[in-house]
Amino acid sequence: MRTDSTESLVSPTKPDPLSVQKKFLETFAEGRFNYWGSFATDSAAALFFLAWPVFGRPVSWTTVLSLALAGWVLWGLSEYVFHRWAYHQKKGIFGSGHRMHHDEEKAYVAMPWFVSGFVVLAVWYGAVYYPRDSALSALFGGWMAGFVFYSWVHHAHHHWSLQNGWMRRLRAHHRIHHRFPDRNFGVTLRFWDQVFGTRQSSHSARPAKEMHSPRDG
Ligand SMILES: [Zn+2]
Ligand SMILES: [Zn+2]
Repeated sequence: MRTDSTESLVSPTKPDPLSVQKKFLETFAEGRFNYWGSFATDSAAALFFLAWPVFGRPVSWTTVLSLALAGWVLWGLSEYVFHRWAYHQKKGIFGSGHRMHHDEEKAYVAMPWFVSGFVVLAVWYGAVYYPRDSALSALFGGWMAGFVFYSWVHHAHHHWSLQNGWMRRLRAHHRIHHRFPDRNFGVTLRFWDQVFGTRQSSHSARPAKEMHSPRDG
């Protein structure tokens, strides 16, 4: 009969989920190929979604523009929601991947290039192509364009020193996030931090709170 101590041992035939997750991230999320590859696939998806209602099954320009704008605005909220409630989870692959960025800010870490494009394409197929609602594709296009814009702005925060006032304010906002990971989740907008009460405008207002390790539980 097995004892408690033998049950607690990890079976040699059963891979440790944390090491599988780590291996996946090291293989697919790290490196310049994936980093720039995801910029390319995400941009291609945004252009495809925007082109579909113009060339595929035409709808009016005003509809396309207004839905694309609505998608962009929706991205601003999504950026805050993903960053705060998915990327800063203590457990899970999103939390682990984002922690790599917080540990090494200049490292080329991005969601695997085939994931974001594929997931959004699958949702697009179900919501736009299958029900033949081509106008809705513009909403996807605006949202995806917002995601690509966010990727560039975040890259600029860590790799460039743009002196434009708007970018300087956003960079300062993001620098504070890297010091206090439970504040300033917005990357392209500070608005949602204001709305959700997580905005902080100074580096010295409160003591640093470190991100939790996945092993903290
Ligand atoms: Zn960052
Ligand atoms: Zn973060």
